[in-house]
Amino acid sequence: MKYYIIFGPPGAGKGTQAAPLAERYNLKHISTGELLRNEIAEGTELGKKAKALIDSGSLVPDDVVEGMIAQAFGKYKDVDGFLLDGFPRTISQAMDLDEMLEARDEEVSGVISLMIPDEVVKERIAHRALLEGRADDARDEVVNNRILTYHRQTEPLIDYYKDRQKYHEVDSLGTIAQVGENIRNLMDSLA
Ligand code: ADP
Repeated sequence: MKYYIIFGPPGAGKGTQAAPLAERYNLKHISTGELLRNEIAEGTELGKKAKALIDSGSLVPDDVVEGMIAQAFGKYKDVDGFLLDGFPRTISQAMDLDEMLEARDEEVSGVISLMIPDEVVKERIAHRALLEGRADDARDEVVNNRILTYHRQTEPLIDYYKDRQKYHEVDSLGTIAQVGENIRNLMDSLA
């Protein structure tokens, strides 16, 4: 099985790019943000706990997302692998993922990193707020906190994966189609 991670700041286009990539490479796309939003929409206990954290721009606890990831790994057998979107988001999540995969004699296949400057993050999220109506996109204060959370807790993963020779950055400032092509070129070179 392949285990790709699509990585980048909020609003970098991970979800947009992940869907067609998953289809092309027969991977199951797992977005932790989307799974959490489904839990909120369904009003589950997990969703209730996650909502306040997400709405303030903080991360939910590691064990919550790791439980969702473990469940997805167990559930989808009929694919060539997984495309993880929004996970891992902390060093401890990355270490736990390595352990989870090691237990199955597997490893992370590669990290595809979409990098955009903070100013572009803000523009894209402001645009998405008008289209999708996500509560965590609507307020500047929350968006700023998500960017801060990204720099503090998620950005250290770049060095984590560089140290393991798994980190690959693609130019993400072009159109959706151009960025998609950059990612496909990278993935074809990794396969
Ligand atoms: P974006 O990439 O635009 O920040 P996501 O849909 O990936 O949005 O995530 C939305 C929110 O869900 C995050 O701000 C965070 O609160 C929560 N979340 C998603 N994935 C994780 C994770 N791996 N660990 C902790 N919290 C997460």
